[in-house]
Amino acid sequence: MSFEESHFETRAVHVGSAPDPETGSVIPPIYQTSTFAQESPGRHRGYEYARTGNPTRASLESCLAALEGLGSSEHGGALCFASGMAATSTVLQTLAPGDHLLLSADVYGGTYRAAAEVFAGWGLDFTTVDMTGLDAVKQGLRERTRMVWVETPTNPLLGVVDIAAVAELAHAAGALCVVDNTFATPFLQRPLELGADAVVHSTTKYLGGHSDVVGGALVTPLPELYQRARFLQNAVGAVPGPFDCWLALRGVKTLALRMRAHCHNAMRVAAFLAERPEVVEVHYPGLPADPGHELAARQMGGFGGMVSFRPAGGVDAARRVVERTQVFTLAESLGGIESLIELPGVMTHASVSGTEAEVPADLVRLSVGVEHPDDLVADLRRALDGLRQQA
Ligand code: PLP
Repeated sequence: MSFEESHFETRAVHVGSAPDPETGSVIPPIYQTSTFAQESPGRHRGYEYARTGNPTRASLESCLAALEGLGSSEHGGALCFASGMAATSTVLQTLAPGDHLLLSADVYGGTYRAAAEVFAGWGLDFTTVDMTGLDAVKQGLRERTRMVWVETPTNPLLGVVDIAAVAELAHAAGALCVVDNTFATPFLQRPLELGADAVVHSTTKYLGGHSDVVGGALVTPLPELYQRARFLQNAVGAVPGPFDCWLALRGVKTLALRMRAHCHNAMRVAAFLAERPEVVEVHYPGLPADPGHELAARQMGGFGGMVSFRPAGGVDAARRVVERTQVFTLAESLGGIESLIELPGVMTHASVSGTEAEVPADLVRLSVGVEHPDDLVADLRRALDGLRQQA
């Protein structure tokens, strides 16, 4: 049966996971092999060498394509990589020296670092603009702009960018619009349906969902971009192993359930923080007063699991908060079932310290997990109460 017309949850469970025709195994096997037997030179069953293609990777790729809304008749598709950065780098490798890349300000620090410290050296020109304002996007476009890189909600300030409007501006300028959809996931936001040309993911985050695998993906309906990126996937070789693909595919099956819980819990946490006198600023698009709220309500099917805030008392207070929580673990990354807390300025975004992409030093970022929301709120309350006792 084709699951193309079925609902998101059904596609997540079934696409790429048909019972194994050989054995009936309900869960697809892990094809832990580097090579495949050939009947005669060049005659094989679709697989020859595991960098070029592996059935477990193909299962994950077909599932991710279906979740981002691509039908099986489309000539593009999904391609999986060893990490989110490998997916991002492969997309950037489709550009040529002299091309201009317009990057979302407040983009993931590693993406900025790749542009500034890897691709700039190869002649790729780039600038950043705050894409929450469309005038800034218009002004940032140049004659040589070939790609506009959107991240929304942004990391770590949770700004919301109008994907449809930016895609239109990019196309009018002769550029592609690529969206890093890691924070929102296709359950909450489908950029390709809004006019974007490609989506990239760190599957390390919500798609894998259990903080036990590193991976990345690119999804595009454009045959040319897909073919070029597929060529690079094999030629450059930043491919994921079969077990990592299997873990990500298993994670994706519960994406809808987890995202509903992440959204619910993040809303509780953000509303709690917004009421606390020790907190001077809360960023969460689900809060009605948030500048991105209206756009997020239109563009997304929920507001996501990421929250950031600044406690009163500056960086010292921020450090004390992240050291005091017990349910929230102090760690980098996001999107797993467990709640994490961090200081982006010295952790995830340390690579952009001293650059235009630097984030406020006292910003605390939360990846709100799927534990009981009362326990999450109680944990933060304890940590914030501790600030007052020391003051
Ligand atoms: N994009 C976003 C929004 C991220 O948060 C990250 C990692 O934190 C990446 C891309 C890079 O992904 P990876 O760590 O899997 O290379």
